Amino acid sequence: EDLINRIAAGEVVERPASVVKELVENSIDAGARRITITTANGGMDLIRIADDGHGMDRDDLLLSVERHATSKLSADDLDDIRTLGFRGEALASIGSVARLSVASRTAEAESGLVLVVDNGRRSGPMPQAMNRGTVIEVKDLFAQIPARRKFLKSARSETAAITDVVKRLAMANPAVHFVLEGSDRTASNWPAVTGEGALGGRLGQVMGADFVENAVTLATARHGIVVAGMAGLPTYTRANSLSQFYFVNGRSVRDKVLVGAVRAAFADYVFRDRFPVVALYLAIDPAEVDVNVHPAKAELRFRDQGAVRGAVIKAIGTALASAGF
Ligand code: ADP
Ligand code: MG
Repeated sequence: EDLINRIAAGEVVERPASVVKELVENSIDAGARRITITTANGGMDLIRIADDGHGMDRDDLLLSVERHATSKLSADDLDDIRTLGFRGEALASIGSVARLSVASRTAEAESGLVLVVDNGRRSGPMPQAMNRGTVIEVKDLFAQIPARRKFLKSARSETAAITDVVKRLAMANPAVHFVLEGSDRTASNWPAVTGEGALGGRLGQVMGADFVENAVTLATARHGIVVAGMAGLPTYTRANSLSQFYFVNGRSVRDKVLVGAVRAAFADYVFRDRFPVVALYLAIDPAEVDVNVHPAKAELRFRDQGAVRGAVIKAIGTALASAGF
């Protein structure tokens, strides 16, 4: 069982940033309004995620670190992935390759409980004073698995990967307050934004006010494909594509069709080695998308690629035209 967990960990938990992604997604699934992410040494020494979500009672807490125990889905729902997590593997995997502590308290409970899984060895739960919500700490990731530790990049690039993951999650969830802090960085604080200008507000926080001031707003619906977000003006470009962010039905994705569509939309304005800056949000019937790929990878496949490409080109073209381009 422990060996199985460690093998599964290799798939779900590639590096500190994938731990952060799994844990923050769990917090979002738990209805958190505020999530604080703390890391040290590129997440290799410490990853701490604190949320104010619905928390877990004793039974849920014990189940949470078991493999394939998910509270979110029954076996026949596998096609209907509404919550972000869906395999019940993250916590069990992390607990097999680090010192994991899971502390949680529901609204009804008189105190919190903390459970520790130290490289596969469980102890607790023990009472712990805390507010409603969940606090997860992951210490010394892969410390007992030298082969995996060796595979990690420098603390600096692991930190950058964590920042990227948190940025994307924050961009996808403007109504959630995100705090990203710890000895790895100067802190970021992105309070919740709601209502009319929520998306623009969050993009301003994460990508900079600069971007929002030099961008057009996308808002089209075509053949059941809704395109929202913002695209930087052709006069506001970058030397690489790192400032292109794509979301499909609320999840950050990497997809060649979307990248190609953006390139085509800007083909008349942006030349040579310059790249447009975009935060593109697509809403599309889930039946039109295959997310039937590895859960840790943000890949997907559109059934009708031409329709998606057309919708993106149209959205950007329309917005640029109304800005005088
Ligand atoms: P999954 O998210 O696929 O269900 P995980 O291993 O990520 O599997 O989490 C296992 C279970 O632990 C979840 O189904 C959920 O019930 C519980 N859990 C994990 N993190 C939290 C959290 N932050 N708040 C509340 N419950 C949580
Ligand atoms: Mg999960």
